[in-house]
Parts: sequence; C-alpha cells; structure tokens
Amino acid sequence: MHKHNRAISVLGLPVNIMSDYPDWLLERLQQGLGTHVVTLNAEMTMQAERNQILAQIISCADLVIPDGAGIVLYLQLLLQQKVRRIPGIELAEAMLEKLGQPGINAKVFFYGGAPGVSAKAAEFWQQQLPGLNIVGTYCGYHSTAQEEQLRQNLAQIQPQVILVGLGVPRQELWIAQNRHLCPEAIWIGVGGSFDIWSGRKTRAPKWLANHNLEWLYRLYQEPWRWRRMLALPEFACKALVYRLFSKPCIGQQLP
Ligand code: UDP
Repeated sequence: MHKHNRAISVLGLPVNIMSDYPDWLLERLQQGLGTHVVTLNAEMTMQAERNQILAQIISCADLVIPDGAGIVLYLQLLLQQKVRRIPGIELAEAMLEKLGQPGINAKVFFYGGAPGVSAKAAEFWQQQLPGLNIVGTYCGYHSTAQEEQLRQNLAQIQPQVILVGLGVPRQELWIAQNRHLCPEAIWIGVGGSFDIWSGRKTRAPKWLANHNLEWLYRLYQEPWRWRRMLALPEFACKALVYRLFSKPCIGQQLP
C-alpha cells in the first residue's frame, strides 16, 4: 500500500494523490492489473464539464494524476498542504526508465502522432535505454481499415504498457473503447509527448514550468491554442464557485 493514495474531488472529478506513481504502476504491471491513467489539467476538466462521456471515463479511470498547475493550486488550497505537480510526460518518462532496467522486459507500444513521429520517439528511447523493449509504434493519422489493423496487432502482441498520444479527449475515448484488447496493460494518454521525444517540439524551460507558466510557453509555440486556453480562467472561476458551495470529497483509497 502506498502512502497518501487517496482520491480528491476536483470539480467532481477524482484526482489521486500518492507518493510514488511509477512505483504503483509497476506493481500493477507485475500483478497484471489493467490500468487506465488520465493526466488531468484544467483544460481537460473544462472539457469534461461539456462532455459527459469524457467525465465518465475520467471518473472510471484507475489513476488520475494532477498534471496541470491549476489542478495543483486547487488541491493545495483545498488541502492546505503542498501537492506535487506530475506532468503526464514526466510520469511516462519515469515509467519508461523503470521499464528499461534489467530484469523487467515489459512490452511497450507507442501509438499516436504524425507519420514517423512515434517511431522517432521510440528510436530516441531505445538509444537512451537499450534494455527497453518497444515492440511497436503506430502513427495517429490513418484510415478505419488501418485502425482495425492496429487493434489486431495490439490484441496479438499484448503490450504491457501502451502510450497513446492522440490529444484530449481523443486518446481518453480511444483507450476506454479499446482497453479490453489488452486487459492487463497499463494505458496512458500522453498528449503531445511523442512530439517532444522525437525532437519535433520542445518543452518549456524549467524556470517557466517551476512558476506554473508552462501554458504560456505553449501559447507562444502554438498561438492557435488561445481559444482552448480560455479554459484556464474558466477553471479558476468554476473552482472558486465550487469551493464556496460544495463540501470537499476526500478519501477513496486505491487498491
Ligand atoms: N494526434 C494524432 N491523431 C489525431 C489528432 C492528433 O495522433 O487524429 C496527435 C498530434 O499529432 C499530437 C497529439 O495528438 O502529437 C496531440 O498533442 P497535444 O499537445 O495537442 O495534446 P493535448 O494538449 O491535447 O494533450
């Protein structure tokens, strides 16, 4: 049992707080317990307000980590204690590093990104961690027939860790619809992580991230995101109203 592994409600969605997420996931992997990991930020929370299916998928996920600065600030105000932000890309990296250790040999699959991107990301990781067993990659733009081929491949290969980078909410819906294909796998929605690992894009400098300003860097890199980012002030207002009018729901323990 991990210390501090409880679910806290953030605008009605659960967020799990625990001391070591990668360790918990590795235990799940070794026990063959299929797991859907959602990396929650303010933007996704606002999408879930408008998309009931997404809200339900997040509520049913086995692990929801506090990915965004808004979520972390909300939790800190609620709990009156420091909460560590875990960007999804860093959770995925920590997992890959664990999986690359001798003796683990778990099968890993990368799905998503423009043509060639997930393959390049896999190449990068294979160079970093020669012990990592990446059994396949698949690009995120394809026909229905090609997607059926992907499903068959997954069912046949049975990867144990499947990183899905299709963006929100596409990746969450896809995982929920397809996780039965590999019931013992750890499925993580990783957004644009393959773009970063392949060198196609860069992450915000550490000092910006440390000041909860990673969103500003993304806006600078991808100005077309401005409309999506209106979700951030919307989240702040809703969070304030929610805090004033509802009681915090704390306590669900994870197995
Ligand atoms: N993507 C994809 N298939 C699609 C749409 C998007 O593979 O049909 C990929 C896209 O190439 C990018 C990722 O999904 O690599 C989305 O990245 P983004 O940073 O926008 O993710 P989000 O901010 O939604 O988590």
